[in-house]
Amino acid sequence: MVSKNYEVVPLNSTQANCKDVGLDFFATEHEGTIDYNKRAKKELLPVCASCAIKSACLEWALENNEGHGVWGGMTPTQRRELQRRGVRTVAS
Ligand code: SF4
Repeated sequence: MVSKNYEVVPLNSTQANCKDVGLDFFATEHEGTIDYNKRAKKELLPVCASCAIKSACLEWALENNEGHGVWGGMTPTQRRELQRRGVRTVAS
């Protein structure tokens, strides 16, 4: 199972909403499947929606070319679309 790495910035932040839901909540083993995408939309993205460090998290994922998992309220597919359009930073 692949889980979010909580050793990286910004997930060390005490303000990260996902710290409250457990290490396996954002597991990416079924990433790219219809089930994962449904789960992301219903369960994962809402956790990010109210996260105080959402912008910083997304920016970190873009800068570090993070290819797996939900970061900053976006799935890998959504982040790839931003990168394809040349977006590297986000407004806070
Ligand atoms: S935006 Fe989402 S993935 Fe990033 S720290 Fe907040 S809850 Fe976790």
